[in-house]
Amino acid sequence: MKPCSARCSFCSENLRKTDGGASASRLRPPPDYFDGLSHALSALRGVPLSWSLSGLETSDDANWMLRLLRTLAASESDGPVVENRVLYTNGAGFAGSQGEVLRRALQSFGMSWLELSRHHHEGAVNQAIMRFRPEIAVADQAVFEHTARQLADAVALRLVCILQRGGIAQPQEVAAYLSWARQCGAGTVVFREFSRLDESYRDNATARYLRAQRVSMDALLAACLDDPEVSRGWSLESLTEGYYFWNLRLRTENGLTVVFESADYGAMHERHATGDVYKLVYFADGQLCAGWEPGHDVLLDTRTMESGGHD
Ligand code: SF4
Repeated sequence: MKPCSARCSFCSENLRKTDGGASASRLRPPPDYFDGLSHALSALRGVPLSWSLSGLETSDDANWMLRLLRTLAASESDGPVVENRVLYTNGAGFAGSQGEVLRRALQSFGMSWLELSRHHHEGAVNQAIMRFRPEIAVADQAVFEHTARQLADAVALRLVCILQRGGIAQPQEVAAYLSWARQCGAGTVVFREFSRLDESYRDNATARYLRAQRVSMDALLAACLDDPEVSRGWSLESLTEGYYFWNLRLRTENGLTVVFESADYGAMHERHATGDVYKLVYFADGQLCAGWEPGHDVLLDTRTMESGGHD
């Protein structure tokens, strides 16, 4: 896999813990990555879970993505019991020469929905945030919109917007983003706050960006609800409190589902420290871990084929 086609300053893969360790974005898979993945999946036989496909940009390498989907699909006959299948993407590969092949692969895989990142409804503003590399076609607004509509025809589409200064930060911008998202074919829009970090993170450029550019979800949501021009016709659907996140789900009068979501990494670390397993992460280096830190809470190391305990 290559470095991501975008270079978002807030990319959580570049966060580093003060107690050391590699950042996930720097891990590169060994040649036998898919053998290791198959092995890890067979060890999860009967475990109920959902596929959550993220990490760098899977669609940047079409052959890699096709092989990943084939490996996961093959495991479903004698591996984990899969509820939802979700891919997180910036859309780059779907706008490339293999876009159609990838779209068809999403359908035959039975993707439940796609989470497509775009952090502003104007191309230039989005590019200032996502900083796609020069040759990446999806940076262009018209290309993105066309690609999003093609994807929406293939699979349920959620547009994901990370709130931030210089991006979506005000109620009027929320309203403009929502009407643009509908035109792109999205059935759902997710507004996410920057994750709240605890003191266990190193003060690197990513952590500083999160601090400086943060937009408070609570304040923005309250401002939207107070502004009839923005929230007229919204109906509240549900409020979910997860183990380290909460989200409020509502519906606009023209049928768009809107989710406001916030996550607290401090709460997540507290839960993970209990030793209970809340999530399974298969890293590019072939380790299956119970959290987002490479080399920590290793459950299975497919490089050595030995099971490990908590460290
Ligand atoms: S698109 Fe996602 S993986 Fe790529 S740099 Fe942005 S946040 Fe990171």
